[in-house]
Amino acid sequence: MAIAADDYIRGVLAGDRTLLARAITLIESNSPRHTEQARQVLEALLPHSGQALRIGITGVPGVGKSTFIEALGMKLCEAGHRVAVLAVDPTSSLSGGSILGDKTRMENLSRHEHSFIRPSPSGGAWGGVGRKSRESVLLCEAAGYDIVLVETVGVGQSETLVHSMVDCFVVLMLAGAGDELQGMKKGIIELADLLVMTKADGENRLRAEQAAGDLRMVVRLLASITPGWETRVVLTSSLQGLGIDELWQSVLDYQEQTRASGFFVEKRRRQNGEWLKALVGEELNRMFFEHPAVQRRWPETLLLVEQGKLPLLTALQRLKTAFNTGDESSFS
Ligand code: GDP
Repeated sequence: MAIAADDYIRGVLAGDRTLLARAITLIESNSPRHTEQARQVLEALLPHSGQALRIGITGVPGVGKSTFIEALGMKLCEAGHRVAVLAVDPTSSLSGGSILGDKTRMENLSRHEHSFIRPSPSGGAWGGVGRKSRESVLLCEAAGYDIVLVETVGVGQSETLVHSMVDCFVVLMLAGAGDELQGMKKGIIELADLLVMTKADGENRLRAEQAAGDLRMVVRLLASITPGWETRVVLTSSLQGLGIDELWQSVLDYQEQTRASGFFVEKRRRQNGEWLKALVGEELNRMFFEHPAVQRRWPETLLLVEQGKLPLLTALQRLKTAFNTGDESSFS
């Protein structure tokens, strides 16, 4: 039986995990018949969102993300927090399945009554995955989760995507994996508020300490993305439960400092604006390419531009006229 918008709204506000999961499925749907109901649900729930601390967690596969999230999430749940874990994997629509946010990867956490774990939405464009994940954060907040962990794998632009929806961005790294350099190359270290050296135990401990020392020097040379905050490097062993408290304290320090400076609120404000711009951009893009006159004229125009026979500006002008007025006379 179909669920009414009111039922979703009441269920989410009551913290009902089943209805929260179904509400997320609703907003993730690409079907136009769900759009209006999704909009109603989001509109009603938006005033109840925003109170969680949103934390992004990224790192290459194998770095130890799920073990780390399990350790951190369990600690937070046991301290009385309600923890939601969302995964963002823009590649999942290509690979046909999510490799993130999988409940079997976080067995204890997924069984805890104060946790909620959701794999990555699939289907739709990169921006679509981003919008759905962002709205899922809002729904989790409305359902009373006060900590939202957004996990992503370090591929493509997924880090930038997650960075644009969280308050604090944590990058996990593994010593000796050439990761330090990879991270720098991709500009990921610049995005990080906190850097975590994972698996700092056993034989790897010394290597992790050295790598952390090197990273601290690198970080000092970089301009911090958050005014007044110097990126911290923390050593952890999720298996031994080491460094998790220190890491969490750093997250809290970050929150305290950015709230005091006003940066916290300002960043969220800016993120909201940027998401609107991105959505409008996507929508315009869709409208443009779905316009019948543009569709009719696109193949020939593209070919002429590819062959270097038509200047870009002329091509643009013709397509714009066709889009705005339906007039195709400029196409010979
Ligand atoms: P993910 O792909 O980033 O989610 O990485 P996983 O959390 O699945 O971890 C990958 C492998 O590293 C697994 O075999 C884990 O058992 C192992 N691992 C994770 N954390 C630690 C740790 O703190 N110490 C050690 N020694 N191994 C770890």
